[in-house]
Amino acid sequence: MLKLEIPFVDLYRQYISIKSEIDLAIENVIKETAFIGGKYVKQFELDFSNWLSIKNVVACANGTDSMEIILKAWNIGPGDEVIVPAMTWVSTAEAVSNVGAKPVFVDVDEVYYTIRPDLIEAKINLKTKAIIPVHLYGQCADMPEIMRIAKNNNLKVLEDCAQSHGAVIDGKIAGTWGDAASFSFYPGKNLGSYGDAGCIASNDDELAELCRIIANHGQKGKHNNFMIGRNSRLDGMQGAILSAKLPFLNGWNEKRILVADYFNNNIDKTLYQLPESRKNGKHVFHVYVLICKGDRNKVISELSKMGIASSVHYPNELPYTKPYYSEEVFNISRKLAKQSISIPIFAELTENELSYIVNILNGIS
Ligand SMILES: *Cc1c(COP(=O)(O)O)cnc(C)c1O
Repeated sequence: MLKLEIPFVDLYRQYISIKSEIDLAIENVIKETAFIGGKYVKQFELDFSNWLSIKNVVACANGTDSMEIILKAWNIGPGDEVIVPAMTWVSTAEAVSNVGAKPVFVDVDEVYYTIRPDLIEAKINLKTKAIIPVHLYGQCADMPEIMRIAKNNNLKVLEDCAQSHGAVIDGKIAGTWGDAASFSFYPGKNLGSYGDAGCIASNDDELAELCRIIANHGQKGKHNNFMIGRNSRLDGMQGAILSAKLPFLNGWNEKRILVADYFNNNIDKTLYQLPESRKNGKHVFHVYVLICKGDRNKVISELSKMGIASSVHYPNELPYTKPYYSEEVFNISRKLAKQSISIPIFAELTENELSYIVNILNGIS
């Protein structure tokens, strides 16, 4: 077999496929020197709100900020608790900590890897103010059940959609279930900018206005300093690039799903536990995570020897990291941390690359 070099993601391949659109977007921003905020950011907010079918989109500097800004707008802070999954990117808990509240961890489900609703209820007390479900790896958390629990307990729901642009459950797209949603457009996400970017999405007009104020130095319009805010503005360049890329997002997601189907149908299930998609949903495979039944280190090194990049999402569950260390055990999060690997998945992978990845994986024993 001829050795191939397959990167984990290849954003240059994607750029080449839409070069004229991207180059034009960048040129326009420079021509009009619309560098911070301005018309291209406004346009992207409109484009993304139409795509998501939501009333308000507020662009900001990154996905982590968008969560922190929403929590601040809800006046969540010291003395409050917010429920988050134990297995997620650190931002989910970091945003809670950075407003002065306490993240309370809940394990994820062993089949879909999203936060377990039945375990959420046991963690709710008088201090609990919100739940942040994460649509991890590109698949929706159990939103119908989470919304029911939130309603019964008078809690806010902030959906962390950083990995789930376009994911659906029960016919409803991720980001439109909760009281507010946070999106990241970090370059490697399903919709990625060429730098840092994020947004807040909500049907709540008052919340969206308050978030906009917080993200722009607490100003309600120019020089009307209304409260203490921060600088979390989005660059015009990122807005223009995101608007140029958005029309391709659904097609890219469909290709990711085809790649995942190929992996699901061809990877040896005696060696790996493969990801499962909810029957009532659409998984958009931000990452393709499999559990190694054998020695994970060996799998990683064999893949690497054969030119295939892989990653781990994530090597530690958050309550096992130094800032959040706890004695409590989160079994499924631990299993993902210690036995999972993520293999390349992106729209531009060729059939030849896919069969190469599968052949190598299936040959490791
Ligand atoms: C990427 C990511 C974020 C944060 O996004 P940034 O734009 O990098 O700040 C938050 N949550 C999850 C689950 C993510 O994967």
